[in-house]
Amino acid sequence: MSFELSDRVQTVPPSGIRRFFEIADERDDVISLGVGEPDFATPWAARDAAIASLEQGKTSYTANRGKSDLREAIADYVADRFDLGYDPDEEIIVTAGASEAVDLAFRAFVDPGDTVAIAQPSYISYEPGVIFAGGEVLPVPTKEEDDFRLTVEGLEKAGADEADVLVLCYPNNPTGAIMPAEDLEPIAEFAREHDLMVLSDEIYAELTYDGDHTSIASFEGMRERTIVFNGFSKAHAMTGLRLGYALGPADAIGAMNKIHQYTMLSAPTTAQYAALEALDSCEDDVREMVDQYDRRRQFVLSRFREIGMDVFEAKGAFYCFPEVPEGFTAEEFAEEVLREQGVAVVPGDVFGTGGEGHLRISYATGLEDLREALNRIEAFVADNA
Ligand code: PMP
Repeated sequence: MSFELSDRVQTVPPSGIRRFFEIADERDDVISLGVGEPDFATPWAARDAAIASLEQGKTSYTANRGKSDLREAIADYVADRFDLGYDPDEEIIVTAGASEAVDLAFRAFVDPGDTVAIAQPSYISYEPGVIFAGGEVLPVPTKEEDDFRLTVEGLEKAGADEADVLVLCYPNNPTGAIMPAEDLEPIAEFAREHDLMVLSDEIYAELTYDGDHTSIASFEGMRERTIVFNGFSKAHAMTGLRLGYALGPADAIGAMNKIHQYTMLSAPTTAQYAALEALDSCEDDVREMVDQYDRRRQFVLSRFREIGMDVFEAKGAFYCFPEVPEGFTAEEFAEEVLREQGVAVVPGDVFGTGGEGHLRISYATGLEDLREALNRIEAFVADNA
């Protein structure tokens, strides 16, 4: 017998990033600038807290929404860092990574036929998530000349005034763009005027290199229409522990929790102990990692400029987004630089409209490898000039 796959599953193409990792896996001399995860291990204090919880036999489920002390710590943290006020009992849910929170939101708020506008280029999971929920994706391209920031003009041009939901991701994966408060304000106004619900993925909020992050939920009238996603994967280098959270109005978080309690029960318990400690005592570790990312960012940007590849000044996350030289598509460049020089990068097209002709370069890699990778890219560009 063969399985009859659902239309929704068949509609979604396989991840465009994986193909490059498969080529990279075939050889052992490849330097990967392709992956979107920290090269640092989780800070020791958080690891110790996880170990201690295991030693004490704390291996049961937690409350569906997450341990109450963790939710309280999250409420204090987001109030302190981002000026956001959420009630730990009703307005916060702890999830298995921000990924689960994003998926819960699509399933809780998108009906078949609803339109979900996505500012692109953007993280690859949003589009499939919308399709799995039965919604229609409306890409809203951002442009390099605007530093890949979302504009009201871009929203209007794409017809986002008719959408039901708007997805934002700033600091952005893959471009490294940020949205300072003055650029977010008109977007908030647009959302209020056209009655859009906003799903704001702020998982890179700690990773900014030109002033602190502002959340769209902090603008007047936005808290009641916004879900904020965040987590411990990036800032606290905890990708494998799978812990994230969502913030939003009580009824919205309640709806997400309804799905979560049937599908996940609760987020990983050991990781919740690590996360509590991470918020409690790992601020210096986070600052140290952000400092190192910033040094790498400056190095990578200046090397691309020396090589003669145009690159805009990425100011957040751990990515930059150079343009491929003339004569190549992004896909061709990525494939050939991998085969000829053993450097894995990701073509911008996989991140949606607006990503064409660009490469996503992750600098969550040590400086020595970055130096060698950039030398190899330089040699590749020189050979193909
Ligand atoms: N959102 C964005 C923008 C990301 O880049 C990633 C990870 N690549 C995630 C969410 C997923 O994060 P988590 O590990 O918390 O599921």
